[in-house]
Amino acid sequence: MNNIVLISGASSGFGAAAAGKIAANGDIVYAGMRDIAGRNAEAAEAARKDADERGVDLRPVELDVSSDESVGAAVSGILAAHERIDVLVHNAGHMVTGPVEAFTPAQVAEIYDTNVISTQRLNRAVLPGMRQRGTGYLMWVGSSSTKGGTPPYLGPYFAAKAAEDALAVSLAKELVRWGIETTIVVPGSFTSGTNHFAHSGHPEDSDTAAAYELRYAGLMEQVAGKLAELFPADVDASIVSDEMARLVALRSGERPFRVHLDPADDGSGVVSAVADHIQNEFLGRLDLGDLVQR
Ligand code: NDP
Repeated sequence: MNNIVLISGASSGFGAAAAGKIAANGDIVYAGMRDIAGRNAEAAEAARKDADERGVDLRPVELDVSSDESVGAAVSGILAAHERIDVLVHNAGHMVTGPVEAFTPAQVAEIYDTNVISTQRLNRAVLPGMRQRGTGYLMWVGSSSTKGGTPPYLGPYFAAKAAEDALAVSLAKELVRWGIETTIVVPGSFTSGTNHFAHSGHPEDSDTAAAYELRYAGLMEQVAGKLAELFPADVDASIVSDEMARLVALRSGERPFRVHLDPADDGSGVVSAVADHIQNEFLGRLDLGDLVQR
């Protein structure tokens, strides 16, 4: 039976590419995009055209992950059509760059909302059905910054991605006994091939940001330039969406808990392996070893 798949943030980047590849494997894919009638009209049209040309089932669906109403409408529409969602991919995200102090609290809250709270909205809409059926698959697009190299001027985004990872780690244990699997996909820095860097946001408090230039002039340009330099020339962003599609196609029981795709290797693979191992060992000491997804 085909999977019914919902991907958030599928208007560009990893999400758009993964949606097309998962559909090519024969699944019915709902490509979540916000503002399909406006800013993402072209992306939605491109997905529809792609689906027609390749004869795949790829359906753009209005999904603003920051809105309870939008999440509710998207999920209930899919459930009305198919009575199930088998795979939920938390891919939507937004990065900001600049000195931490220069972001207003409201901005930081918004960054957390887009990257973390949004997953709670989607999970609370989708998980009841998965639990009822005793099967399902949650994929989270995390970030190597959670455990690897963390250059400055990316603080609110890195903090939000770390919170997202922590939520995914805890929730995974609570879903094992319901037959619901989890994979955290951990990309390193891909400075091109997605809109991530090009569309990054900036601090509202420009006076404070300007003050930091006195001691940290050009720091963000240096970080972005060096990250691009560290990236091997023979790899591109398609490796992430290839892997996302491969994971969805795996059979239940074969899916790994965490996968790293970090061509520049910021060290997160090593630290995650240790952290996940230690957390799992401790569960064993609590007689909760059955909650570990192998
Ligand atoms: P893109 O900017 O290309 O994709 C981000 C997607 O998220 C866009 O479709 C964007 O939609 C969507 N989005 C943002 N806010 C919302 C919202 N409120 N509701 C719905 N959709 C929203 O970048 P990537 O493909 O690189 O990013 C995808 C994921 O990968 C993110 O979670 C990011 O954190 C993660 N990641 C990326 C890395 C990289 O280096 N590229 C590294 C590590 C992790 P819209 O077009 O409307 O803005």
